[in-house]
Amino acid sequence: MKSIAHSFNYPTPSAIPKVAVWTKDPFLKNLYQPEFENHPIKWHWETHPKNWKLLLKKQKPQYLLLDLELVAENPIQALQEIRSLSPLTNIIVLSHTHDVQVAISAFKAGISDYYLKPTNPETLLYAVQKLISEKSLTPHDPLMQADMQMFSVTHHISIAESDSKMRELAIHHLLTIFDARGALWLCPADKQKASSSTMYQMIDETQFAVEHWNFQSSHEAQTELTYFQNQHPLLIRDSFHSQLTSHPEHWFHGDSAWIPLKNSSMGGVLIIGINRQLSLQIESRTEFLIRSLEVSLENHRRYIEAKQLTYVDDLTGLYNPRFLDHALNIAMDSLNKKEEGFCILFIDIDKFKQVNDQYGHLIGSQMLLHVGRVIKNGLRNSDHVFRYGGDEFIAVLYDTHLATAQEIAERVRKATEARTFRFPHINIKITLSIGIARFPDHGQDKGTIISMADNAMYASKKQGRNQVIVAES
Ligand code: GH3
Ligand code: MG
Repeated sequence: MKSIAHSFNYPTPSAIPKVAVWTKDPFLKNLYQPEFENHPIKWHWETHPKNWKLLLKKQKPQYLLLDLELVAENPIQALQEIRSLSPLTNIIVLSHTHDVQVAISAFKAGISDYYLKPTNPETLLYAVQKLISEKSLTPHDPLMQADMQMFSVTHHISIAESDSKMRELAIHHLLTIFDARGALWLCPADKQKASSSTMYQMIDETQFAVEHWNFQSSHEAQTELTYFQNQHPLLIRDSFHSQLTSHPEHWFHGDSAWIPLKNSSMGGVLIIGINRQLSLQIESRTEFLIRSLEVSLENHRRYIEAKQLTYVDDLTGLYNPRFLDHALNIAMDSLNKKEEGFCILFIDIDKFKQVNDQYGHLIGSQMLLHVGRVIKNGLRNSDHVFRYGGDEFIAVLYDTHLATAQEIAERVRKATEARTFRFPHINIKITLSIGIARFPDHGQDKGTIISMADNAMYASKKQGRNQVIVAES
């Protein structure tokens, strides 16, 4: 019987494709090489290259079969680097990990295929051949190639993990389309969450968040922005004031383009120093890219909103237990690297049933909302507060020692005790019982640490309530 690998036909037999194979494992080379080299492909084997980034820059292979173990420390970051150092390299991954998240992230980073070790030589060879065959079907007409590339870019934008990554992909491609000197992204500062890399600039009395690409320095970007502003006063400001969708005929001004996105929270893109002659094709490609970016940004915003909802407690607006699980996983993972602990406060309202019985459920529920706020106000912004269920709350205090956690818990307890919760014709006083446990001192896993804090809270109830008690070691 003919094997799948042998029945394969190369569409262009004259052009022998080159495939780089990078692995740390000489055994794999011994296993695959005899089978692979029977085929009209030029293989470049690298077992454990010392500086793979340099090699990549030098070779820029069209096809790369990458053993993920070579970059095991941070495989996804490595894949992203490969994509940015050599965007045209098609990557097949050979992986040692069964973690589905790694595979998903790898595909998001733009790989073509993913195989788990051990993979037999025939299967892997077939994957390489299939990829070569797909890629050689790409049309040779440059216009069509440009369109194909556009589809590929918009696809990557649509699956990018953050809005800033979406912007970056789109702007990089715009710079290529226009062969432009540089680009800036501007957004009214009040519509934008600040990040450390964002700079701010006043334009026509509005504070803008600004990011830039391709310029030598922030100073150069700023100078270009000021120059554009002087040439076209009020253009940027007005486009954020009017909510109208802008069209390509208004985008281009000399060798610059100002492209405001669909709504002001998405910002706008300023392209500087366009070297290409504008044509209808370039304009329509730009419009396609911009509209796709808008749709992707909108979808991303909705996704974040929906995700928020599933993590937020309806009544109090605090996080819910679903997010607790997630937050503790992150806290424990980062702990391995930083070697610092976190504390859990398990908080239960004392005699809360009496509030419900005396004043009704509606007042009771409002009390839960107010108590949640008192707790949250007693903590740092970086700590997380959860409504764990009923009248129980959990606070996670990151990077905190027991003594500090005790002080904080005591502060929350006192603030609640001192407070009179006022409703029309009703004043309510309540107290809290709080138990504290610290990771890793009181338990090595999420379940244990929560139940240790719960037990400490219960001890407070037994000893008369309205107290802070630390879990027993
Ligand atoms: P203890 O000091 O022992 O904690 O006494 P307690 O009365 O607070 O008892 P427990 O914590 O066991 O009871 C919690 C009560 O919280 C039970 C329920 O009536 C009330 N509760 C739970 N969820 C809600 C809610 O969403 N709204 C209102 N109004 N009450 C709730
Ligand atoms: Mg209670």
